[in-house]
Amino acid sequence: MTAPTQEHRPNRVAPRIDVYCPADGRLVGSVPDLGAAGVAAAAAELRAAQPAWEDLGPDGRAKHMRNFLDWILDNEKRLVGIMQEETGKSWGDAGLEVAMCVDLINYYTSHAKEFLADRDIKSWGAAGMTKNLRVFVRPYQLVGMITPWNGPLGGPMLDGVAALMAGAAVLFKPSEVTPLTWTEATRGWLEDISAPPVMANVTGGPETGAAVVENVDMIMFTGSTRTGRRIAARAGERLIPCSLELGGKDAMVVLADADLDRASSAAAWGSMWNSGQICISVERVYVEAPVYDEFVTKVTEKVRSLRQGMDPDESFSSDIGAMATENQLSIVERHVQDALAKGARALTGGKRAAHGLFFEPTVLVDVDHSMACMREETFGPTMPIMKVADEDEAIRLANDSEYGLSASVWTKDRVRGDRVARRLEAGAVNINNVMISTFQLPLPMSGWKTSGVGSRSGGAAGMLKYCRQKSVVSEKVHLKAEPHWYPYKPGASKLQARMVRLLGAHDWRRRLGLSPRSR
Ligand code: NAD
Repeated sequence: MTAPTQEHRPNRVAPRIDVYCPADGRLVGSVPDLGAAGVAAAAAELRAAQPAWEDLGPDGRAKHMRNFLDWILDNEKRLVGIMQEETGKSWGDAGLEVAMCVDLINYYTSHAKEFLADRDIKSWGAAGMTKNLRVFVRPYQLVGMITPWNGPLGGPMLDGVAALMAGAAVLFKPSEVTPLTWTEATRGWLEDISAPPVMANVTGGPETGAAVVENVDMIMFTGSTRTGRRIAARAGERLIPCSLELGGKDAMVVLADADLDRASSAAAWGSMWNSGQICISVERVYVEAPVYDEFVTKVTEKVRSLRQGMDPDESFSSDIGAMATENQLSIVERHVQDALAKGARALTGGKRAAHGLFFEPTVLVDVDHSMACMREETFGPTMPIMKVADEDEAIRLANDSEYGLSASVWTKDRVRGDRVARRLEAGAVNINNVMISTFQLPLPMSGWKTSGVGSRSGGAAGMLKYCRQKSVVSEKVHLKAEPHWYPYKPGASKLQARMVRLLGAHDWRRRLGLSPRSR
C-alpha cells in the first residue's frame, strides 16, 4: 500500500520531504515542506473560516465531528496501514490510535455543550449583592498544534478534537517523520466528509513548526523538552498562551505485596508498547527486595516471548514494531551500551536487529542512577529494573529525575498505594495499572518539572484551555449611581468606610473603628 499525498496548496512549488518505512526502508510517500509562506497562507484561510464554525455552536460542530468519526471507522484499515508504513508499528499498536479517536470524539461531542455553557457565578461580598455574575467563553480564533512522530493519528486528535469542538480553527503541524496519516485524515475531513475548512495540515520541518508559532493565537505543543523550551520562549515574546506536553521518565514502583503476575504483565506492555516510544512509557522499575527475583523472572519471560516485526493487514502476528528513526534507535543503543559498560546485564535483548530499525525488547538489571538508561529519556523498548530496600528508597529514586510526567505503584494495600502516590513527584500516578490515566479524559494530564507546562484533558478544562474567558457583570437592581462613584460626600463616604469596617474586620475593636490601645 502506498500512502496518498495531499498538499495544503497543490499548485505551490515546495521542496518535498520523503517518508520511509522504518521496518524495511521503502519509500512510502512524500509531503511538501511548506515553510513560512505556506503556513501564513493556511492561517489566513483558517481565520476566514473560523467565525462560521464558531457560529454553528456545539451541536452543529458535533455533527461534523461525528461524520469524521464515521469516516475514521470506515477507513480504519487504510489509516492503520498508512500509520504502520510510516512508523513501522505493529498492527495492534497502531490500531489503538483508532480506538483513541473514537473515544475522544464521543467524549467531547457529548460534553461540549455543557463545557462551553455560560456559567452563573455566586457573587461575593456586600458590593456583589446587587450584581449578577456570569462567565462566557469564546474560543481562540486560531490554535496551533505541533505534534511528534510517535502517534501520527492519536497525537493530533488528543488535543485537536477539544480545540475544534471549542469552536477554534486548528493549524496542525505533524512531525516531518510521520506526516502521511494526518495528511490523509485532513483530506478525509475536507474532501470526503466536506466539513468546514477549519483544520489545515501544514507539513514540514522545524522551520514550518516555528512559523506555526508565529501565526496562531494559542499554541499546543507535544514533543521533546528541548523543542518545548524554544516554543515557550517564543510564545512568551509574542504573549500568546502555550501548553506543553513534553518528555518523561516514568517510574514503576513494585512493592513487596504486589500482585506480581499483573505487575509483570503491565511492565512488559507499559515499557514495550509502541516500541517504548510514548512519553508515558514505563522507563524504569524499582522493586522491593523480597519480590525482586520473582518479579524479574516473570517479566523477563514475558518480554522474551514478545514477537517483533511489522505484521501485515490485521494479522496481529507481531506485538512490537520498529523504532521510528535511526536517530531514536541510536539513542536506545547508546543507553543500553552505557549500562552494559557500567556493569548492568541484559537478561533478554540488548541489541539492534540486523535489518530494519528494530531494537530487541530488552530487560536490564544491576542498573543504577549513574547510567543514562535511568536518567535520560530512552523512548525505546527497554526496561531497566533496580532492586530497592524499601518504599522510602523507591520513592527517593523515583523522584530523582528532572522529569515528572506519570508513574505507577503496585501494592494490594490501598492506604500504602495512596501514600506512595501522594509522595511521587509526577502529574499522574496509576495504582496497579500503567498509562491508563492519560486515556481517562475527565482527568488532567499535566507534566511536572520539565515534563510540561499546563495540562490536557481534565473534563471541561481540556476544552476551556482553547477558550478565552469573559466575565460579565449585570445589575440586579437599577440604581441611579453606585455609592462609590463621584462626587464624594463626607456623610455618604464616611458611612461607606464604616460599613467596610463593620462587615470586613475580624474583631470588634476594628469593626467599631475604636483606636488601638496604647502600649
Ligand atoms: P521534537 O520536539 O523533536 O519534535 C516535535 C515537533 O516539533 C515536530 O513536529 C517538529 O517538526 C516540531 N519542531 C521542531 N523544532 C521546532 C521549532 N523550533 N519550533 C516549532 N516546532 C518545532 O520531538 P519528537 O522527537 O518528534 O518526539 C519525541 C518527544 O515527544 C519525546 O521527548 C516524547 O517524550 C515527547 N512526547 C510527549 C508527549 C506528552 O504528551 N507529554 C506525547 C508524545 C511525545
